[in-house]
Amino acid sequence: MLKSFIEVDTDSHFPIQNLPFGAFETDQGEVHLCSAIGEYIIDLFVLDEEGLFNGPELNNQFAFQDSSLNYFMSLGKSAWTEARETLQSLLSANNETLRDDPLLREHIFKKRADVQLVMPVQIGDYTDFYSSEQHARNVGSMFRDPDNALLSNWKHLPVGYHGRASSIVLSGTDVYRPKGQTIPKDSEQPVFGPSLKLDFELEMGFLTGPGNKLGQSISVHEAEEHIFGLVLVNDWSARDIQKWEYQPLGPFLAKSWATSISPWIVTMEALEPFRTACPEQNPKPLDYLNQPDRTTFNIQLDVLLKTEQQNEPHQICSTNFRHLYWTMAQQLAHQTVAGCNVQPGDLYASGTISGDKGDSYGSMLEITWNGNNPLSLPSGEKRSFLEDGDEVIMTGFAEGDGFKVGFGEVTGKILPAIE
Ligand code: MN
Repeated sequence: MLKSFIEVDTDSHFPIQNLPFGAFETDQGEVHLCSAIGEYIIDLFVLDEEGLFNGPELNNQFAFQDSSLNYFMSLGKSAWTEARETLQSLLSANNETLRDDPLLREHIFKKRADVQLVMPVQIGDYTDFYSSEQHARNVGSMFRDPDNALLSNWKHLPVGYHGRASSIVLSGTDVYRPKGQTIPKDSEQPVFGPSLKLDFELEMGFLTGPGNKLGQSISVHEAEEHIFGLVLVNDWSARDIQKWEYQPLGPFLAKSWATSISPWIVTMEALEPFRTACPEQNPKPLDYLNQPDRTTFNIQLDVLLKTEQQNEPHQICSTNFRHLYWTMAQQLAHQTVAGCNVQPGDLYASGTISGDKGDSYGSMLEITWNGNNPLSLPSGEKRSFLEDGDEVIMTGFAEGDGFKVGFGEVTGKILPAIE
């Protein structure tokens, strides 16, 4: 097994097998791109400046001297592979370049706990899919008709909507309770005020690389070549606003006020050892979506809730990325099939990921069945939806033989609505 000269705990999300991409703020207030290993971050700006990315794809590209990953992401798969191989080689136990150069090491490694991570990518566009069958069935049962929970298009195409890129925030950013129009029970007149049904959605998202030209499309067979990596996503949702506004054009203000992502982008290559089978698709999708040997990734996902009284984070959901009905490749093929252009740094989120039991549901809406079965916390508190001061913590990892490839966390705390 590949080993680094840097000690990494077997429980760490960031062994030499991971090497995710992120960004941090330097002591001088600049943004440098970085990777992570064990308890450390790796300053990629300095590595690049030292001329250590010297393979054919990255030599003289200055790919890591930008303040965002977009340019590096636009270079495509061969550049991504080269960067990963270079980093793995420089960090490996038998490479002396960094290992035996304390001065260089001091410039390159910083304790992860001592740095402020920042948004590593400029996200131009954001789509949110709805690809978990169990989630779609639960929501359809609650909001419409339990006997007809899935609409007729659901198994023929990956349903989605265009989200809002400007309000995507990095893990750790507090979010304000949104205000909006809702319709009180048994009333025909809407009222205005802070949302009373504030929710999270456990999702994962992928960020795209090179993309396609306007008018062209990306085939389902080549779609994975355009996927740079994955993040954890919390698609904050105001259920009462959503219920009143969503017909006929889909979610709007209920979702656009904030979406949180984890700071580390875990690459497709790091996830490669964790490929696993997908749920069967019946009926068979149309040709442009048909992917005969579909695989996905085995990624364990957990949600924990912390409140002002419940100081110890309490686990409220445990599920897996592999449950999704539509793959990322199918989502990307569908996104572009009408000729819409995808660009480096776009975000495509999965939709809420729910398993088939109450403790694997990825939203409060499902866990409490629209508030009908409130959740009891060890502190003695009950929750139907999120309250001010509550903090939602999502985490995810894939488990290898003696190591984990993880995403760290995406966290966010609810602040009271602004008066
Ligand atoms: Mn969502």
